[in-house]
Amino acid sequence: MRVFNVCILLLCFFNVNGQEVREYIDLQMHPTIHVPYSFIGKGFESFPPEKEPKLTYKHQFKNVNYSNYWINNKGARIIVTGALTKEGIKNNKKAKRVISEQVEYVNNFALENSDDFVVAKSPGEIRTLLKTTEKTIIVHSIEGAKKLITNQADADYWASQGVAFITLIHLVDSDLGSSAIKPSIVTKLINLKGTLKKTKKRGGLTEKGKETILWLANAGIMTDITHMSDQCRTEALDFMEEHQIPPIVTHDVFRPIQNHPRGISEKEILKIYQNNGFISLPISGASLKPHNPAPKYQQQLDSLDCYCNGSIDTYKFTYQAVKNLIESNHQFIAEKTGSSDHFSDLSEAEKVDFSIGFQSDFNGFLNHSRPRYGKKGCYEPVEGVTYEPIELDGMPHPGYLESQWRLLEKEGVDLEPIKRNSEKFLQLWEYFLEHKGTFGKSLGTFQ
Ligand SMILES: [Zn+2]
Ligand SMILES: [Zn+2]
Repeated sequence: MRVFNVCILLLCFFNVNGQEVREYIDLQMHPTIHVPYSFIGKGFESFPPEKEPKLTYKHQFKNVNYSNYWINNKGARIIVTGALTKEGIKNNKKAKRVISEQVEYVNNFALENSDDFVVAKSPGEIRTLLKTTEKTIIVHSIEGAKKLITNQADADYWASQGVAFITLIHLVDSDLGSSAIKPSIVTKLINLKGTLKKTKKRGGLTEKGKETILWLANAGIMTDITHMSDQCRTEALDFMEEHQIPPIVTHDVFRPIQNHPRGISEKEILKIYQNNGFISLPISGASLKPHNPAPKYQQQLDSLDCYCNGSIDTYKFTYQAVKNLIESNHQFIAEKTGSSDHFSDLSEAEKVDFSIGFQSDFNGFLNHSRPRYGKKGCYEPVEGVTYEPIELDGMPHPGYLESQWRLLEKEGVDLEPIKRNSEKFLQLWEYFLEHKGTFGKSLGTFQ
């Protein structure tokens, strides 16, 4: 990986002068979930200012992705829209159709609302748009590649549509690999076949899955390894390391705190960063609730004066634990020996490689953070104290992202790793585009 590190380093130096980006990027939300799941409302629709819908943080099957909330949203300057596959998709033609419809929906929306929104199809476009407009920048991604990529031409096609990354596996086992089954009845029912099979029989990442990762990389598309089962993730990480394909994880969780199949271990996280990838956390307090945490984290949780489970506190706790793991292992990650550098001694450009993303998953069939105070919270609000909206209402819609970051900042949480993630995302996408067509070639496989 050393040659690769130098490569990234040179890019960093270049960008220090060429202005590195420090913006909030939401790595995946779903404005088009109504296409595969028609019972949910259409995303990006707008309401007249006097008719704001009543929304609460419990909005699992409701559209909360109103375009009003994404205009000039300081908590998410760049948004990645994830086109969702249908879990039961039967063939390549149908898979393409369901994704194309969503990509077009977003493109048309941006065209019709071009005062406030713009779709960027490359990292270069994002850099330019950040300098020249105030618009919300939209990037395409796809969640679930089942039946979607059957050859290099398919991958090239999605790259030409501006797709930055594809989350290979979603909720069911497919011919690409096996999916993580969360300890919830809904997840088990969706992936009934996988649930009923013995782990050994389910397998991990298939040959087809490996081939697809290579096709994507050779098209300039990153592979997101979120949603993979343990075996699948292990095999994907090994395969990607072997082929110098940086892995990204947009919305899995942290195994030492969320001890279930969607949790990534400390070792795996370090491996992801060693291979120049990054991880990103879901922001929902509902998704990050501790589940049989390791004693170290249970003790930390027990010692907190203010901790409201399922609220912003839950995101805050996991984010800080992950940040601590990554930053305290920076020398191990960067393979530096003999130096005693503290993380804080690194240059801003060097710190980009240790960024941590976030993913809102708005309209991804989940509730968001509950409030800290009031009836639905854990504590009574104190009279005379001014609270942030996120503390009183939780996260009913994307308009509250700004309040979340503001509150965390007030409470002394270092948010720079989250802001650096936009630069990391751009650098990685650039790396894929610069190396497209070269992955796996020297090894003579998958020509
Ligand atoms: Zn997902
Ligand atoms: Zn999703």
